[in-house]
Amino acid sequence: MKFIIATHNQRKREELERILIPLGMEVVTAKLLEVDETGTTFEQNAFLKARSACNQTDLPAIADDSGLIVDALDGAPGVYSARYAGEHATDAQRIEKLLKEMEAVPKEQRTARFVCAICCVFPNGVCITAEGVCEGEIAFAQLGDGGFGYDPVFLVGEKSFGQLTDEEKDWISHRGKALALFSQKLKDHLNNR
Ligand code: IMP
Repeated sequence: MKFIIATHNQRKREELERILIPLGMEVVTAKLLEVDETGTTFEQNAFLKARSACNQTDLPAIADDSGLIVDALDGAPGVYSARYAGEHATDAQRIEKLLKEMEAVPKEQRTARFVCAICCVFPNGVCITAEGVCEGEIAFAQLGDGGFGYDPVFLVGEKSFGQLTDEEKDWISHRGKALALFSQKLKDHLNNR
């Protein structure tokens, strides 16, 4: 079955493809219009992106919305993770702002979590969603240069996401967990049609 992945983020696309293709899904690309992420939850934004892509292509569309929740910042940057340092800021600028805001926060109060919501909308209106969470903490400085986004400052145990291999990250990440749940729900849906 063909699916559209509704993301302009190349690194996210790679992570999604890495997990979806072994499940036998044919992932196709299309030029998609930008969607205003006006939702107040990850799930709402994932739905808005998937529905828009499905409407544009008439194919089942899968979208991900994800972000970082930092307890010491009252949940920020949350659904604004991509826009945290301004609309056109780079990953480096977002990390710099986060480390600055967390400068005076002691280790025991640096708890944080990545959340990922995956949503698939089918042309007949059926919608499947799944969410995954990965608990961790914010480092005092960048560690490693792998991954993308906030990976180098998100610690799980001793290592940051930026120090993990792709496989290690997929195994424990919010996106890996959301996709595992999502693929189970998708299989159940396809088997029961
Ligand atoms: P959106 O889901 O495209 O709205 O953007 C999510 C934001 O959270 C981006 O700025 C990413 O950098 C960040 N983010 C989401 N998932 C990850 C991840 O796995 N690692 C690092 N940053 C992430």
